[in-house]
Amino acid sequence: MSKDYYKILGIDKSASQDEIKRAFRKLAHQHHPDKDGGDEAKFKEANEAYQILKDEKKRQQYDQFGSAAFDGNGGGGFGGGQGFGGFDFSGFQGGDFGDIFGDMFGGSSRRSRERRGQDIQVDIDLDFSEAVFGIEKEISLTKTTSCERCSGNGAEPGTDLETCDECKGHGVVMRAHRTIIGTVQSKVTCEKCQGSGETPKKSCTTCHGGGVQKKKQTSTVNIPAGVDEGNTLRIRGEGEAIKGGKPGDLFVRIFVNQDKRFERDGFDIHSDATIGFTQAALGTKIDVETVDGKVELDIPSGTQSGSVFRLRSKGVPNRRGRGDHYVTVNINTPKKLSRKQKKLLEELDLNE
Ligand code: ZN
Repeated sequence: MSKDYYKILGIDKSASQDEIKRAFRKLAHQHHPDKDGGDEAKFKEANEAYQILKDEKKRQQYDQFGSAAFDGNGGGGFGGGQGFGGFDFSGFQGGDFGDIFGDMFGGSSRRSRERRGQDIQVDIDLDFSEAVFGIEKEISLTKTTSCERCSGNGAEPGTDLETCDECKGHGVVMRAHRTIIGTVQSKVTCEKCQGSGETPKKSCTTCHGGGVQKKKQTSTVNIPAGVDEGNTLRIRGEGEAIKGGKPGDLFVRIFVNQDKRFERDGFDIHSDATIGFTQAALGTKIDVETVDGKVELDIPSGTQSGSVFRLRSKGVPNRRGRGDHYVTVNINTPKKLSRKQKKLLEELDLNE
């Protein structure tokens, strides 16, 4: 099943990165699941499309192969060395094909002699200000980790390893695969020793020779300041462990809870304030909520409804400093007036 990511975002195939970003923002805003009338399915779909199209490399692969290339998980690069529909391209060497799949599956083909554990993806919800200022979050995961008893080699402590009789110590065996380009002879990881070329004489009593165990683990994830909805952080080596290889990566997808007071636009923050009719005419000082707390804002006399005031550097931290906070001031025209107020206003006769 192929999805049309361009259609999902409602953009042209030639859309610029800027247009892609704007289209995603609009849809994310419209369908955000925390919102009244939000639509989680549509939100996820838009996010999936955005994750691919915002990345020029992935976009190219998508243009060439369609969404099947990403197996619908939106992130691309998941699944370690076991990419495409269960095929193992780990022995596939040379040609452009290797390059393409190498990029597509998290660098698994060219450099693939080295085995990598599966990647893990988790979603994390942040409050508005947590996303603005960054925060440390603890993530609890049940994942495959290296066995503590045997340090991952699968042998009972104090016993030796011997050469694997299945692969004769090579760690790989030849196998014919049917692939989208026909039958391919390729080297696949030896199942018996899982690529290590050695098997234990006596298996570890904890992992039964597998070298890994499922375990609940808590990782502390450092969320940097300025992250936004739709961002994904990659934490190397925090994915699933694998015997005789490197662990995969942990991908943390950021979701940001909305805050009634603020609206975010990149590194800038927007909010509204309402003042009275007299205050607008005569000028006043008001307190404005910002992510730094209350800030005094000078409203000059003669302020019109809809005027926007900028509070410099009260926005989102980024590499170049901080964004700004923009306050849109609305003027409350009185609905009910006392007889005295009415009389005074009539006397003023403000026709300007
Ligand atoms: Zn063990």
